Amino acid sequence: MTAKLIKGTEIREQILAEIKEEVEKIKAEHGVVPGLVTILVGENPASVSYVTAKIKTAKSLGFKEVQDNQPDDISEEALLELIDKYNNDDTIHGILVQLPLPKHIDEKKVLNAIDPDKDVDGFHPVNVGRLMIGGKEVKFPPCTPAGIQEMIVRAGVETEGAEVVVVGRSNIVGKPIAVMMMQKGPGANATVTVVHTRTKDLASHCKRADILIVAAGVPGLVKPEWIKPGACVIDVGVNRVGEKISEKTGKKVAILRGDVDFDAAKEIAGWITPVPGGVGPMTITMLMKNTLNSLKYKLGLA
Ligand code: NAP
Repeated sequence: MTAKLIKGTEIREQILAEIKEEVEKIKAEHGVVPGLVTILVGENPASVSYVTAKIKTAKSLGFKEVQDNQPDDISEEALLELIDKYNNDDTIHGILVQLPLPKHIDEKKVLNAIDPDKDVDGFHPVNVGRLMIGGKEVKFPPCTPAGIQEMIVRAGVETEGAEVVVVGRSNIVGKPIAVMMMQKGPGANATVTVVHTRTKDLASHCKRADILIVAAGVPGLVKPEWIKPGACVIDVGVNRVGEKISEKTGKKVAILRGDVDFDAAKEIAGWITPVPGGVGPMTITMLMKNTLNSLKYKLGLA
């Protein structure tokens, strides 16, 4: 069997086109566009590149984008004041603070200062609680898990009654996707098992999975013999395993591998996500969707 590839790069384009259309319609009918502020503290190269990608995507969709760069010696108090300013700015519907923050700043305090109704990353305790309650309570599902669920649904994989096994229990991927897949409703209604480093027999759990979601950060952790024939395998892992020279640019780039032995797994699975080009492109896409939704909630359109 050769698995169908679930390509995040293609699904991203579909969703971005849908968002763009909605932005144009809202602008024409209500005279407003979604506003996103990206707050970057310092010049960490990885953070700069993530923020640049977010700004570029937001602009391409017709959002109002405010890029607020701050020096890495900004005080916690000043950063909290900045958050307060955007909390009270009616033209801003999403506030994103790029992590990590410098050591002298309490990250939790800063994230918790964001108005939960502008917390488009979905990490504020209020939004974590809303996610747990489910249904219409959910305002901003965290972006990577939301992207995973979207990929499963758009690939046409049946989730109702499916055995879902999630490898990993982090607050940003494992726990929220497990909660989302077990909720009552479309794209969910699954029976979910979460496994981690203290799980006794990882293989036996993975073998039962109709949908296997792997977010461990261990290259090649999931062996092909752990995969149920025909299963849907979502590989969230992004692991740098070396460097190569890019054919396109001639520059050094990282060689990325997922948590699943892709070449062998694709012969057994029914669906599989590649790394790179799978879950990765979905995260920013869902951030844009959350920002659009924030405006829609405000206008009473969602
Ligand atoms: P994390 O916070 O390090 O959590 C990893 C989880 O995997 C932990 O719960 C850990 O168990 C579990 N785990 C690690 N090794 C294991 C093993 N050998 N057997 C069973 N469980 C194991 O990682 P994360 O932030 O969730 O990220 C996971 C991976 O996804 C990383 O490669 C990351 O780069 C990638 N990622 C990608 C995106 C994206 O594509 N947009 C977004 C986020 C993350 P314990 O809890 O017992 O330690």
